[in-house]
Amino acid sequence: MTHQFTVSTRARAQLVEITEQVASAVRESGAASGVVHVFVPHTTAGITINENADPAVGADLLAALERMAPDGARYSHGEGNSPAHVKASLMGCCQTVLFQDRALVLGAWQGIYLCEFDGPRTRRVAVNIHADAG
Ligand code: ZN
Repeated sequence: MTHQFTVSTRARAQLVEITEQVASAVRESGAASGVVHVFVPHTTAGITINENADPAVGADLLAALERMAPDGARYSHGEGNSPAHVKASLMGCCQTVLFQDRALVLGAWQGIYLCEFDGPRTRRVAVNIHADAG
């Protein structure tokens, strides 16, 4: 089953934690264990899993991506948002997380993040839940 929710971002580049929305979709599915796919249907946003304890980790990640695809570099795409496209591909558009006993199987310091690179905008996130057989 696929669920969708939206995330309103507030900055040009921002990491927004969506762990609770994904966990909630898993709980509401009624499935005890399985896998959940989290997909972002956008070309200038991505999904990543990283530390949710120290906000400096997210800031460092955004800064490192900025160094890899800086605003001032030369790009061919005429829309002017090529750095956002590059960063979105570096992060990827999906993640897969296991769940067991109706809870996500994440490390103690892991969170699921929508990565905004061309905001602020309203972004869609699709979550598809596969329950283990039997
Ligand atoms: Zn573009």
